[in-house]
Amino acid sequence: MEKAKDIMNSKWLARVVIGLAILLTVVAIYLVATQRHVMHTVSAETAECRTVVVVASGDTLGKLLMEQGLSHSDVTEIAKVLKSDAGISTLRADRDKIEFLRDADDQPVSKIVIIPSPWRQVELTCGDAGNWSCQTTDIERVTRAIWRGGEILDGDSFYLAGQRAGIPAGILADVYDLLAFEMDFERDIRAGQKFSVLYEENFSDGKKVDNGHVLAISFQALRGNVQMYRFRKSDGTIGYYDGEGNGAIKSLKRTPINNAKVTSSFTTRRKHPVLGFTRAHKGVDFRAPTGTPIPAAGAGRVVARAYNRGHGNYVKIRHNGTYETLYAHMSKFAKGVNVGTTVRQGQIIGYAGSTGLSTGPHLHYEIIKNGQHVNPLTVKLPAINNLDNADKKKFLEYKKVLESGIEQLSKNPNMFIQL
Ligand SMILES: [Zn+2]
Repeated sequence: MEKAKDIMNSKWLARVVIGLAILLTVVAIYLVATQRHVMHTVSAETAECRTVVVVASGDTLGKLLMEQGLSHSDVTEIAKVLKSDAGISTLRADRDKIEFLRDADDQPVSKIVIIPSPWRQVELTCGDAGNWSCQTTDIERVTRAIWRGGEILDGDSFYLAGQRAGIPAGILADVYDLLAFEMDFERDIRAGQKFSVLYEENFSDGKKVDNGHVLAISFQALRGNVQMYRFRKSDGTIGYYDGEGNGAIKSLKRTPINNAKVTSSFTTRRKHPVLGFTRAHKGVDFRAPTGTPIPAAGAGRVVARAYNRGHGNYVKIRHNGTYETLYAHMSKFAKGVNVGTTVRQGQIIGYAGSTGLSTGPHLHYEIIKNGQHVNPLTVKLPAINNLDNADKKKFLEYKKVLESGIEQLSKNPNMFIQL
């Protein structure tokens, strides 16, 4: 019996190895963009005259360089090459590290190493003529795909269940953000729902350094299994897609009504057409004849369906922890849209009109980001990223291989896939 079990195990292992080899090839295709080169270490002869500074809040590059005795003109030149050659224009407090190297303790700084991430280091070297040059090195990393799965228990939150499943906090936060356009974490969570996440762990010299990207998510939501896969398109852009290859990030529409003309834009000061005095316009007005159906700009939950003197009949939708949208001056609300109703992107929530403080039929549309009104036409929104036929075909093949890897890992979560 024992023997038979061993053979079974080794056969199974062989299958896993073959599966992983296929997976590795496929995954490699989309990982090509993360360029990696050999790690550079500081040479031994300069090591004794090294000063390491961790950037603190309030530090500027200029301040830190001058503290090390560099001149104004050095600072100006260093800032210039850093920006043009390494794309660095600001330092991040508590994250970036700077090393200053001198040939001897009483000598001026001859080399500066900036470490903006564990995977990148930027070396500034002072030439004989006193000019500074800049070289960027990517540090070699090895990435593993890790699978963790769990289940919501009675009285649980997704966050608690995720922690219990062993999903690191940062990955959990990413998963939360990704699912937030699809789910309402307050109302869509039930005991018994299963979920899983495939994510990256990055290693350097055999030691784990940090977690990488979320590669795949599966969540048994109330209205079906929500699946998301990270995938690189042939044009190099990366997005998350559902099982069919549709863009999984449901962004908000800047203009809920297609092709509607903007009649008044977002401004912090404008003369109100009815009130006459200057007042901020916290949204965008779109021309829309009375009765024009108004679609929800994104999926979410209705948090207000009411009348007030300014907005007239209005609906407010909460999309996730970050975004809310508001639609004002409606002639009437759509049937079945009430406070608490979950709406799809594009679902009709009401009809344009001129109720409240309004000079004529139009849609007044607001986007509220983290409690602040933002300009719907210019605010940066997560992109909707759809696949063309060729990419969709590639995606479906990739997904098939990824799923078979996930299935094997789900049977043995201690294993990992070497990417
Ligand atoms: Zn308006």
